[in-house]
Amino acid sequence: MGAFRKGFPAQVQRLVRHRADYRCEACGAWVIGKSGGACLPVVRDVAGSESAGVPADVLAGAANAVLLCAPCTARAEALDPQLEALGFRVRGGGDPRRVPMTMSWDGVDQRTVWRSPDGRYLTEPPA
Ligand SMILES: [Zn+2]
Repeated sequence: MGAFRKGFPAQVQRLVRHRADYRCEACGAWVIGKSGGACLPVVRDVAGSESAGVPADVLAGAANAVLLCAPCTARAEALDPQLEALGFRVRGGGDPRRVPMTMSWDGVDQRTVWRSPDGRYLTEPPA
């Protein structure tokens, strides 16, 4: 967790905001502007043994970052079990590239994707 205290690098945040089309990836709310939303790590307990072997640049990159609006950020910080079930944060370690997230915008456009390190959504898990 300590590695993320300063947040993701600006380059990563740009990738993630662009990937998300400037909307909260959990609920679809618009998050525009510097104060609009936050990039949070999916896998936070990088000291966990499950994260051993995951490259540091993966943990510090777009595959491990989700863009959330302020209310969803608060829910994620509070370890909301629904957000965890949808894959927006996980308690333990692990490889964020293998953690799918289910996006449900406006309650209709629901899809499950994986986050690539180069800032794209993948429709299938990485090989
Ligand atoms: Zn949200």
